[in-house]
Amino acid sequence: MSPALAVLHDVFGYAAFRGQQAEIVDHVSAGGDALVLMPTGGGKSLCYQVPALVRQQAGRGVTLVISPLIALMHDQVGALREAGVAAAFLNSTLDWEQTEDIERRLLAGQLTLLYAAPERVTTPRFLGLLDTLAAHGQLALFAIDEAHCVSQWGHDFRPEYRALTVLHERWPQVPRIALTATADAITRADIVERLQLQDARPFVSSFDRPNITYRLVEKQDATRQLLQFIEREHEGEAGIVYCQSRKRVEELAATLCQRGIDALPYHAGLPADERQRNQDRFLREDGVVMCATIAFGMGIDKPDVRFVAHVDLPKNIEGYYQETGRAGRDGDPADAWMAYGLQDVVNQRRMIDESPAEEDFKQVMRGKLDALLALAEATDCRRARLLAYFGEAMVSKLRPNSDAHESIAGGAVQELAGAENGSQFNSQPYCGNCDNCLQPPDVWDATDCARKLLSTVFRVREMSGIGFGAGHLMDILRGKATDKVRQYGHERLSTFGLGAEFSEAQLRSVLRQLIAVGALQVDAQAFNTLQLLPAARPILRGEQPVRLRAASAAPPRERVRRPRAAAASPALASLDAAAQQRFAALKAWRGEVAREHNLPAYVIFHDATLAAIAQQAPRTLDELNGISGIGASKLERYGQEVLRVAGAAA
Ligand code: ADP
Ligand code: ZN
Repeated sequence: MSPALAVLHDVFGYAAFRGQQAEIVDHVSAGGDALVLMPTGGGKSLCYQVPALVRQQAGRGVTLVISPLIALMHDQVGALREAGVAAAFLNSTLDWEQTEDIERRLLAGQLTLLYAAPERVTTPRFLGLLDTLAAHGQLALFAIDEAHCVSQWGHDFRPEYRALTVLHERWPQVPRIALTATADAITRADIVERLQLQDARPFVSSFDRPNITYRLVEKQDATRQLLQFIEREHEGEAGIVYCQSRKRVEELAATLCQRGIDALPYHAGLPADERQRNQDRFLREDGVVMCATIAFGMGIDKPDVRFVAHVDLPKNIEGYYQETGRAGRDGDPADAWMAYGLQDVVNQRRMIDESPAEEDFKQVMRGKLDALLALAEATDCRRARLLAYFGEAMVSKLRPNSDAHESIAGGAVQELAGAENGSQFNSQPYCGNCDNCLQPPDVWDATDCARKLLSTVFRVREMSGIGFGAGHLMDILRGKATDKVRQYGHERLSTFGLGAEFSEAQLRSVLRQLIAVGALQVDAQAFNTLQLLPAARPILRGEQPVRLRAASAAPPRERVRRPRAAAASPALASLDAAAQQRFAALKAWRGEVAREHNLPAYVIFHDATLAAIAQQAPRTLDELNGISGIGASKLERYGQEVLRVAGAAA
């Protein structure tokens, strides 16, 4: 057995590496640099933890892990210690004495992994420590976690990450591994440049999260829609609800609580101790729903988050994918649900326009928002679009009841295929696990409606010399002679009343989608008035048909709903009554241990490990040893107890 595999087996209790882990671990253990792009839940931690142990065993000293968040360090170090690994962190939660103690252990070669925040790493004092270690050949590896923080194109920009180039400049002989779960092409290039990783070998895993069901619905009454979603599909389960503003976070948390949902607020405006308390409850207890701004999430390792909901539009697809990626890390079914509407589009656009940033930065941000809108308005597979955004082609599944051939989706691949053999890619991509695949949306021919709207936008400006907002334009088209309409004489426009047959919801949906396709833009500097863009021309001339999602007045239909039984972990579903009892007893025992150690329960044992124990009902330590997730340290520490608890429950 190779040293890496031995470590995986003995320390972490796992039988085999997943995906690209083995390759990455070999490369880094042998002293190579690596850039690892792997989705959330893909198993990035082991990619540097195993090499850290292998290199330590080979006498090369300590691995330094740069991590942006205290909570993350705490739980990761906790998990490593549970596995019997000599790990520690240095951050502001430690007092002087504790800090000195860790520094002493570091210099004495007693640590395998040391976690620290970037601002700590780049202090003269800390760099001095590293100098000493390096002088004795005792710096095994630099691991830069959440590497997208180095880029302003990422969504968690941390300027301190920029200073990390000092590591490479001062100790070029020490291998580096940078890891992130998010990076579109522009962010990826930025990471490479900023961290000087040009020579690092890139390892890009598939970003697909097959167990997450994507659903984007039209916003009517977001609170009511959210309540319905949680009550129907996720009662008693852990989830995160992302909101744009702090005020909304607090209102929603209160509303959910009134409905008997165990919800908590989290945003940067709350006192630090309350924030910490809420986060701890979310991580450590079962079934808590966190209402939060995007301040919440980085480093949330909780594996059993069953849903992530957005009641407001995120900033861009990277943000959306990162946030939704916090659902279902354990690989069991999970939901990503979003409600969005015209107002969201207008708000986001305004935030970009009014930000103090440079114009070319704003331009990139607008492009990113447009890509997100296109996703929201898409009538085809959401997953194919998400993956295409990250430069990945989705391998389409067979559509049930259809004779479609296996096809590959994703813009890049279609382009490569070229026009002449493009036809073989024509069948729509199908993932079988997003709203558009599960229940293809009704599509209607909105060409006529779109032309009338665009022409109204054109004519009011022509007549009055200024632009107008969505409400006024819809009034004109629907033939409503409001005071404002009469004031400007807009009832004399040729399009007045021409769209009386369209409902307001329909018009709103068409407007939103015209903004999404870049035919219209909202001018935030001028009272959110609408302006034509060049892309409107072919539509106005009738050269380009507009086919849009039908605005649905109906509540989310039943077909997308998953019965509760199927939502539960497959491992749990297969347990018989006696095993269920053992599982419950083990969970209760785990809860006590976790509280004693001040760690989240999953750090002690995962649900899947407990389920396997409950199922196999081992009688001896030997039998227990073979179960995934039980390494040598945990076997020694908890083996007898686990056998006792499981035995007593049967
Ligand atoms: P990431 O940091 O990429 O989101 P983690 O490193 O937290 O992912 O890993 C996700 C989960 O998968 C963890 O609970 C981890 O223990 C588990 N895991 C990772 N690699 C393996 C493996 N080779 N075998 C079994 N479980 C694994
Ligand atoms: Zn799909």
